[in-house]
Amino acid sequence: MEDRKPECPHCGQQLNKWSTPTFNFSDGLGWCSTFLFVCFNDECNFFKNSWKHMVENYGQEMGYRYMLHPDSGESSSLPVGGKNVMKGDIIDEIRESEEKAELEARKKAFQLLTDYFIAKDVDSILKMLMDEAGFGSVRLKAAEHLGELGDGRVIEPLANYKFSHEVVQKKVDESVLIIHRKNFTMECPYCAEVIKMRAKLCKHCGRELTS
Ligand SMILES: [Zn+2]
Ligand SMILES: [Zn+2]
Repeated sequence: MEDRKPECPHCGQQLNKWSTPTFNFSDGLGWCSTFLFVCFNDECNFFKNSWKHMVENYGQEMGYRYMLHPDSGESSSLPVGGKNVMKGDIIDEIRESEEKAELEARKKAFQLLTDYFIAKDVDSILKMLMDEAGFGSVRLKAAEHLGELGDGRVIEPLANYKFSHEVVQKKVDESVLIIHRKNFTMECPYCAEVIKMRAKLCKHCGRELTS
């Protein structure tokens, strides 16, 4: 899928492209490249042995990762103070595969939602909408679907739920109005119960409805 990256001579794993920080380490390496090849394999002997060496001889929790300069082909080492230090700057396939996995998960969620919509399974759609950990775009679509389906039973659970996401809340409010319209109902402005749009008196609180 892309040109092959060089392998680590210590463990044989393909090196990762690692974006160089804007600041320079004080060791005078003078990295004139936007990225370096680094072995981020935690099981790599170079990393493991250097870690052991630093702890045993200097009492320091740190080690070195094997590093290759892409232009000169010169190998060197990158000092790191932890297994995950600097991994955030890996710019190649690790991040790409994470993004791909997320895209895949979102696609799946959309597919599931569409299935629920076709089946008019409002309870399952409601569940997806209320899942605060779910994808925002999926939850928005779920709110829209509830409006389209117009099932009055979802009004109460929706009205009683405070959505932490402002955009989702707005969409939910919109859908609730649509559902009311479809069912010829409204919310009593005094007691918040669902009542008929034509009502002159609220059957719940008995107040007169002017409009
Ligand atoms: Zn290695
Ligand atoms: Zn009322």
